[in-house]
Amino acid sequence: MPHPSGALPSGLEALRERVNFDLECLNYPARPWVRTEPGDEDVLDCAIVGGGQYGQSLAFGLLRERVQRVVVFDANPPGLAGPWLTFARMIMLRTPKDLTGPDMGIGSLSFRAWYEAQHGRDGWEKLFRISRPDWQGYLNWHRDVTGIDVRPERRVTRVTPVSANRFELEVQCADGTIERFRSRTVVLATGAEGSGARVKPPIFDGLPKSLHAHTNDLIDFTALRGARIGILGAGASSFDNASAALEAGARSAELCFRRPQLPLANPRRWMEFAGYLAHYPELPDAERWHYMKRLYDISQPPPEPTFKKATSLPGFRLRPGTPWLSVREKNGAVAVETPQGSLEFDFVIAGTGITVDLSQRQELASVTPHIALWGDRFTPAADQEDTRLARFPYLDRFGAFTEKVPGTAPWASRIFAIFRGATLSLGPSSASNSNIRYTAPRIVSGITRALFLEGAEATRTEFDSQSHHELAPDTVSAVVAK
Ligand SMILES: Cc1cc2nc3c(=O)[nH]c(=O)nc-3n(C[C@H](O)[C@H](O)[C@H](O)COP(=O)(O)OP(=O)(O)OC[C@H]3O[C@@H](n4cnc5c(N)ncnc54)[C@H](O)[C@@H]3O)c2cc1C
Repeated sequence: MPHPSGALPSGLEALRERVNFDLECLNYPARPWVRTEPGDEDVLDCAIVGGGQYGQSLAFGLLRERVQRVVVFDANPPGLAGPWLTFARMIMLRTPKDLTGPDMGIGSLSFRAWYEAQHGRDGWEKLFRISRPDWQGYLNWHRDVTGIDVRPERRVTRVTPVSANRFELEVQCADGTIERFRSRTVVLATGAEGSGARVKPPIFDGLPKSLHAHTNDLIDFTALRGARIGILGAGASSFDNASAALEAGARSAELCFRRPQLPLANPRRWMEFAGYLAHYPELPDAERWHYMKRLYDISQPPPEPTFKKATSLPGFRLRPGTPWLSVREKNGAVAVETPQGSLEFDFVIAGTGITVDLSQRQELASVTPHIALWGDRFTPAADQEDTRLARFPYLDRFGAFTEKVPGTAPWASRIFAIFRGATLSLGPSSASNSNIRYTAPRIVSGITRALFLEGAEATRTEFDSQSHHELAPDTVSAVVAK
């Protein structure tokens, strides 16, 4: 369908003006409203841990609701928040190109507007999917144009509840200095690893560090020129790592996995309809568990472009039905035992994913013992049991933690989580690009709700103490006297 205003203005400068105009048009209600008690001037309204696509979308969403003191802390260097230009190695996003979310419903802030401003309508029509660098470029532009406060190279090392509605955050800067902040609410937008850790099977433990890595590590593939690479696991990133290695000159890349064949189905595309994306969190516990359990059982194939790219490269080999039984160093190489016999590689990579296990997050050590997990709240039928899912945090409908023992952690409802572990409560794709549009406003609403209710008594006192005159009394009496 043609754009109602004809061609978009070319260039990002013109787009910036359009964004500013749109924000002005949608400025109502403009009044900042979060209350500050004397002595609390330095307390943040919200501290967002993680400055990836979610952290920055939430910061923007809060600004639009006139929540002013919002700071986003991100561990990565400037412009490199999230996986896109760090350890992600795919060519393009899996999600359809017309995804929305960080724009929070403002067309001029969408990926499409950003892309068309540089490549025109034709460029957009020709685009198949969003490339990885383009997605990061778009996010960086979005961050600048929205004016949110993102502080890079700052890792939050401790979140400590100090009262029912205050947290202290310890933040480590890249130069090692420590900063401390106080905040009324906290969001954990710490990505796939933020609710757990990389999984590396114990069979890797005895190998020298120089002979192995995880797919999420920063790997210098140029140092592996001519090498035989073995990869354990058949997820998308295993394929991406195989391609990256072969393109950098590796002799071979063999992808070994336990299943007899690759999964072919990807029900996550089926889930991309508004009803499901928006209202999954309203489903009963048993229904949510059922969806996630089935998804985990089906697994997910690599996206077609990822699969085609890897399999087109000389030296690529797929080995289904090949779990690794043991791994050991042998004459500077890696000997791998499988049920099919021995394999030898020069370097091995674990494509074995990320676990959800909050106890592995140091920054949450003061929080985790007090919050409910699904295992505390829900008992599945015997054929639905899953210890992985039982470790997911049990979040409320706004994405906030809930108390393990009622009455013992009143602050729990003021910590909001949107990391991998949020997906059982908020939706299988809630932590992905496809769901920002629905999940971010939900979390923003939870935060504004908490902030409003905290100040509700003072708000009512203010209401009662004011006369609220719209007409000055003498204006009215002058008319009545006539
Ligand atoms: C390789 C890869 C490809 C993906 N492709 C797609 C796709 O095509 N489509 C899709 O829908 N989804 C995809 N996803 C899933 C999801 O969209 C991404 O993981 C996305 O990056 C999640 O955004 P986020 O903002 O929640 O987390 P992230 O983008 O991971 O950002 C989290 C940020 O938090 C920072 N951080 C973590 N801990 C701390 C701390 N303690 N203090 C300060 N900062 C911290 C990290 O440095 C990081 O910058 C992909 C994920 C990966 C890993």
